[in-house]
Amino acid sequence: MSDLILFWHRRDLRISDNIGLAAARQKSSRVVGVFCLDRNLLERDDIAPARVTYMIGCLQELQQKYVRAGSQLLIVQGDPNQTIPALAEALKVQSVFFNLDIEPYAKQRDEEVKKTLQEKEIAVETFWDQLLETPGKIVTQSGNPYTVYSPFWRNWSQQSKQSPVRDLENVKGLTNQEIAIAKKVGVIELPTAKDLGFIWDNPLLLTPGETAAQKRLAEFCDRAIYEYKEQRNFPAIDGTSRLSAALKFGAIGIRTVWQATIEARENSRSDEASDSIQSWQQELAWREFYQHCLYFFPELAQGAYRKNFKNFSWENNEDYFQAWCEGKTGYPIVDAAMRQLNETGWMHNRCRMIVASFLTKDLLINPQLGEKYFMQKLYDGDLAANNGGWQWSASSGMDPKPLRIFNPASQSQKFDPEAEYIRQWLPELSSIDTEYLVTGKIPDSERDRCGYPQPIVDHNRQQKEFKRRYQLIQTTS
Ligand SMILES: Cc1cc2nc3c(=O)[nH]c(=O)nc-3n(C[C@H](O)[C@H](O)[C@H](O)COP(=O)(O)OP(=O)(O)OC[C@H]3O[C@@H](n4cnc5c(N)ncnc54)[C@H](O)[C@@H]3O)c2cc1C
Repeated sequence: MSDLILFWHRRDLRISDNIGLAAARQKSSRVVGVFCLDRNLLERDDIAPARVTYMIGCLQELQQKYVRAGSQLLIVQGDPNQTIPALAEALKVQSVFFNLDIEPYAKQRDEEVKKTLQEKEIAVETFWDQLLETPGKIVTQSGNPYTVYSPFWRNWSQQSKQSPVRDLENVKGLTNQEIAIAKKVGVIELPTAKDLGFIWDNPLLLTPGETAAQKRLAEFCDRAIYEYKEQRNFPAIDGTSRLSAALKFGAIGIRTVWQATIEARENSRSDEASDSIQSWQQELAWREFYQHCLYFFPELAQGAYRKNFKNFSWENNEDYFQAWCEGKTGYPIVDAAMRQLNETGWMHNRCRMIVASFLTKDLLINPQLGEKYFMQKLYDGDLAANNGGWQWSASSGMDPKPLRIFNPASQSQKFDPEAEYIRQWLPELSSIDTEYLVTGKIPDSERDRCGYPQPIVDHNRQQKEFKRRYQLIQTTS
C-alpha cells in the first residue's frame, strides 16, 4: 500500500503550526500538498481582487516552502469534489488529510468530497486547526452554543490553549513519474490573480505569506500590543496588528499567535500593558465567537438573526448606496473610511463600525448590501467576521443591546480629533480647518471650493426616522 498522503490546503496556507499537516507528517514521510482554485468560490460575485491577490501570493510562498521541505504543493482548478478525488485516485494515495472549516459552503463541500473519496476507498482524516477552541467545546451550562459574547469570552478564556505544532520538514514528495500522472489529471502551474480575472495593482497592507505574517506578529508583540487598548480606536494610528488577512487565510497559525500573546504578557511591565494584551486577546476571541455562531447558526449568512428585523422597511435608495460606496456622502469620516477601503482593500475597525452604522441607521439601507460590498473589497473579507460585524452594527444580530447609532461627528471628534485620518484619505479637504472636518460642519463655500459634496442626508432627522421604523417592527413582531 502507498505511503503517500495528500494534504488539501484551504484556509491554512502555511507549513508551520498546521495541525492537519503535522499529523500527516507524523504518519508518513511522504506528504504532498494540494490547493484547489475552487470554481464555486471564485465565480461568486462578492470576491475582492485584493483578497485573491493576497491568496495567490500566499500560495506562491507556500510552494517554495514545500520545495524547501522536500516536497511539492500541487495546484488544481475546478470543482473540488471532482479534482481532489481524481488526483488522489491517480496518485494512489494512502489517504487525504485536511483541516475543517465552519462556513456553510465549506461544510457541505467537505462532506461531499469525503464521501466521494470513501467511495473510491481512499481514507480521509480531518482536523480542527483554525480556532483555539473547536465548535461545540465552548457551550453554556445547558449545553447550548453561546449567542452573547461576554459569557463566551469568560468560558473561552478559561480553557487551556494548545501550543504550536511542528513545522513540516524532511519530507518526500512525488517522483517524476508521479508528477507526470498528476499533470494528466489536471495539475497546473499556479496562475496569477490577473490570469484568474482579478485585477489589483495597489500595494497590499501585508505582504502575503507566512514569513511576512510572522514578522508582523513579532513587530506587533514587540511594541504596539502593549498600547493596543488605548490606540486601537484611532484610525490614523498604526495601532492594531493588521493580521486579519493572514488569519483569514491561515498564513499564520492561531496557536502561534496565542503563544506570542502569552510571551508578551510575561514581558509586560505594568498592569496597563497586561490589560492591553488582554484586550487584543479579546479580539481573537471575537473572531472565534463569530465563527462558532456561524457554525451553529448558518442561517446568519442569509440575513438578520433577529426575526422581527426581516420586516424592517429599508429605503434602499440606490443613489445613496452609490455615494456611500464611492465615499461621496458629504460626511468626512464616512467618506475617508470608504476611500481607504476602495484604495487599500482594508479599513480600520472603528471606521468599519462607523460606516456600517451610517449605511443602516442614516441611509436606511439593508445591511446585506453593505456586507456584500465589503466582501467585494476587503482583502481580509471573511464571512463569519464580516457578517458578525454587520449584524452587530445593524442591531439585527444576537447582541442584547439592540440600538446602537453612531454619530459621525462625535466619532470623528473622539477618534480622529486632529482630522489626520480624514485628511489622509480626502486630500481635497486638506486645507479645511480641523474643527469643520471633525464636526462635519463645513461651510457651503468651502465644500464648493474643494468639490466636496453636501451631506446627502441629515443625521439627526435620519436617526429619528430609523428609530420610528424600528419601533414599528417591535410592535408588529
Ligand atoms: C462591519 C464590520 C465588518 C468586518 N468585516 C471583517 C472581515 O471581513 N474580516 C475580518 O477579519 N474582520 C472583519 N471585521 C472585524 C475587524 O474590523 C477586523 O478584524 C480588524 O479591523 C482587522 O484589523 P487587525 O488585523 O489590525 O485587527 P486587530 O485589532 O489587530 O485584531 C486582531 C485580530 O482579531 C480578529 N478580530 C478583531 N476584531 C474582530 C471583530 N470585531 N470580529 C471578528 N474578528 C475580529 C481579526 O482576526 C484580527 O486580525 C469587521 C468589523 C465590522 C464592524
